[in-house]
Amino acid sequence: MERFLCSKCKRFYPLQTTRWRCDCGSFLDLEFEPKFPIRKILKRGPTLWRYREAIPILRDESMLTLGEGFTPLEEVELNGHRVFLKIDYLFPTGSYKDRGAAVLISKVRELGIRKVVEDSSGNAGSAIAAYCAKAGIECEIYVPESTSSGKLVQIQAYGATLRRIEGSRERTAEAAMESASKIYYASHCWNPFFLHGTKTFAFEIWEQMDGRLPDVIILPVGHGTLLLGAYIGFKELKEAGRVNRIPRLVGVQSAVCAPLYQAFKKGWRETRPIEKRGTVAEGIAIAKPVRGRQILEAIRETGGEVLVITENEIGVALKEMGQRGYFIEPTSAATIAGLKRYLKKKNKKEIVVSTLTGMGLKATEKIGQLQ
Ligand SMILES: *Cc1c(COP(=O)(O)O)cnc(C)c1O
Ligand SMILES: [Zn+2]
Repeated sequence: MERFLCSKCKRFYPLQTTRWRCDCGSFLDLEFEPKFPIRKILKRGPTLWRYREAIPILRDESMLTLGEGFTPLEEVELNGHRVFLKIDYLFPTGSYKDRGAAVLISKVRELGIRKVVEDSSGNAGSAIAAYCAKAGIECEIYVPESTSSGKLVQIQAYGATLRRIEGSRERTAEAAMESASKIYYASHCWNPFFLHGTKTFAFEIWEQMDGRLPDVIILPVGHGTLLLGAYIGFKELKEAGRVNRIPRLVGVQSAVCAPLYQAFKKGWRETRPIEKRGTVAEGIAIAKPVRGRQILEAIRETGGEVLVITENEIGVALKEMGQRGYFIEPTSAATIAGLKRYLKKKNKKEIVVSTLTGMGLKATEKIGQLQ
């Protein structure tokens, strides 16, 4: 059976619908034993539900799908290096957040919950809203005023109640948390079921690379839901004896909002307050990542690092990818800028994987201003 576990104070809690953090204030993880029946997996359709036995949903009837996952892993040449890109903007809502939302909202349905609240810079809100629409569950999405209008329209198109909050991304989170005292908090940063969806990113790479494991994976990092998902996924594969190591995880942040970079460089276990300025990479504009301690641990354990890139590099990467046929949003271009930095010092033999997390159509006015 599944239960919640606090990695900070080691307390356990039964799965219960109102709890979203430990009594000590920390985030919670999930105790769960995944299985990888490879013959069954290979026979199933190309969605993330092919890893059914590794996803903590009890009953098949609870599983929600919009056809998500098993995104292409394409080999491209960048700065004279061959790299693999996981094309995660090819999700039903246009970002990888569907990995987490599909699993979390399936669990919400399984628990019989009728209404949820979430806060986000836009894409997590769109994903939660879409799967709630599919399940007929009511949802309320809090976003900062500055969120791209494409994402606002998208959230409303799914029938969610949109609440735009003045001020910072942090102010938006506080407003949602107040609401979460009464309504189930389907938070991508707090709720561990979300990470048990994003972990399918690792399973797909494992399957698509056919036994060859990447040496390093370059990922965007704000709240770390993709990075932690990749970490959990490879860790589960390792514990199940399917792989013998976890690739180095490298996080990319914008230089103007880089709490994880600061903590990594200084050797701190937890992030500390930073002075944050505006970045066009709205998806990673997170000054205080909920799971900061956990992200730093995952990066250090795997021998990874945190890179920062400038606003100018984001614009350059966005244009360059567009001219190769990949129309991505600025947050996604930040990852490619980080990848390009990494490639400058890469050793020739390394196998490098990165990802395109969000579709350009979500942020057309911000992209227009860059051109
Ligand atoms: C959410 C998001 C990210 C960053 O994810 P975190 O969980 O905050 O680390 C990166 N790219 C896109 C397109 C996103 O929507
Ligand atoms: Zn605790």
